Amino acid sequence: MKAVAIDGPAGAGKSTIAKAVAAKQQFIYVDTGALYRSIGLYAVRCGKDYSDGTQVIPLLPEISLQLRYVEGIQRVFLNGEDVSDLIRTPEIAMAASGVSAIPQVREFLFDLQRDMAKENNVVMDGRDIGTVVLPDADVKIFLTASPEARAHRRHDEHLAKGEKVSYDDILQDVITRDYNDSHRAVAPLKQAEDAVLVDTTNLDLEQSIETVMKIVEEKI
Ligand code: C5P
Repeated sequence: MKAVAIDGPAGAGKSTIAKAVAAKQQFIYVDTGALYRSIGLYAVRCGKDYSDGTQVIPLLPEISLQLRYVEGIQRVFLNGEDVSDLIRTPEIAMAASGVSAIPQVREFLFDLQRDMAKENNVVMDGRDIGTVVLPDADVKIFLTASPEARAHRRHDEHLAKGEKVSYDDILQDVITRDYNDSHRAVAPLKQAEDAVLVDTTNLDLEQSIETVMKIVEEKI
């Protein structure tokens, strides 16, 4: 099996680029953030403090997550319910960041992610795919961009969906999540030694996809 690992901070374009690469290579795209978001959603629904391990860990045995693919598009099921759309809010992004710092949550999701790559050719995106989940991936990309560029992109995405969210709030969220994700004790966001750094601050989407595709084609 072949694996492409794409890591990087929120809003660097990981999911869009990973989807494009997966389609081109005919690999399955695995969005691991959706798994952390689903656990975040469950904690919020239960009225728990999602940053507090003592509140989140007891919930894990109640949670069953499944990834299914409908015409190549990933859907995530939380205890049988398709939550793919519900998890795309700023509140749940923050909850995902909170639960993701709890080692038991990362452990809980480890096998699910590993198994996907054992059974399929994958393009997997996340924060620790090249460093922890798939250290032997055939290709590792670390995708980044300035916080402002990333906040603008997220803002545009919300506007396109007709959602009113302030740019300043999104920028603040991006900075807070970057800090949380790169300073946590377990599996912090960092570039794997053998990952190729791609900075998309001054690249449009097409150029970013082209850059990443070139790296993938060279290595696979
Ligand atoms: O990529 P996405 O924005 O959906 O991820 C939501 C949150 O989940 C991230 O801010 C990060 O804290 C966490 N995450 C993680 N490891 C991954 C994927 C996501 O810690 N592999």
